[in-house]
Amino acid sequence: MEDNYYLFQGAKKSLIRWLADNGITDTGVLRAFDVIERHQFIEDHFLQQKAYENMPLPIACDQTISQPITVAFQSQLLQIKTGDKVLEIGTGSGFQASILAAMGAKVFTVERQIELFRKTRILLNKLKIENVKQHYGDGFLGLPQQAPFDKIIVTCGAPNVPTSLLQQLKTGGILIIPVGDNIQDMKRITKISDAEYKEETFGQFQFVPMLENLVKVNQSYF
Ligand code: SAH
Repeated sequence: MEDNYYLFQGAKKSLIRWLADNGITDTGVLRAFDVIERHQFIEDHFLQQKAYENMPLPIACDQTISQPITVAFQSQLLQIKTGDKVLEIGTGSGFQASILAAMGAKVFTVERQIELFRKTRILLNKLKIENVKQHYGDGFLGLPQQAPFDKIIVTCGAPNVPTSLLQQLKTGGILIIPVGDNIQDMKRITKISDAEYKEETFGQFQFVPMLENLVKVNQSYF
């Protein structure tokens, strides 16, 4: 057992209570935060001590693992049902994808940084996380070979709502996407029909940007 096991267990329970006191009512989300341990997704041992504080933390490639409340809030907005096929744009550490998988979703996740893609693949294997299929590619294109999806979640700040993502949603499906440059509006877009969408906004957040043009070919494998 790891040295800090008991320390982390206490901190984890306090974080879950704090999330429940701060608007997270979906018990599936709260349960997933118990099963999936955020400290496992943070490489640096010093930063790991802060894993159960409500703050974003640095991961490889100058990226960040989002704040716990942001992960919990986006997961709640998705209204996950067991068996939902979910696409995530921005794998990063793999924490958000693992939370959704623990909630019973079948997760497909896309990352544009090859180093993060590789590191996270090793980590998710080590942690024996099932139901997460990783792809290396450009999230602006979505994942046409696996479409359509019940739900899509974007975990980087998008300059706009990519048409490809709307097209890859099932009718009745939900897209959660933070839209904006420095600060983003959290949007929930529900596909009513091929031509009709309902859009709602749920406050402001700050994410690392969704970037284009790193992956030249839509190369993808897992
Ligand atoms: N969900 C992640 C959050 C990582 S931060 C987690 O739980 O840790 C956002 C991630 O989006 C970064 O890893 C960044 O490289 C990635 N990203 C940015 N633009 C992207 C794009 N166009 N396609 C795929 N991933 C992208």
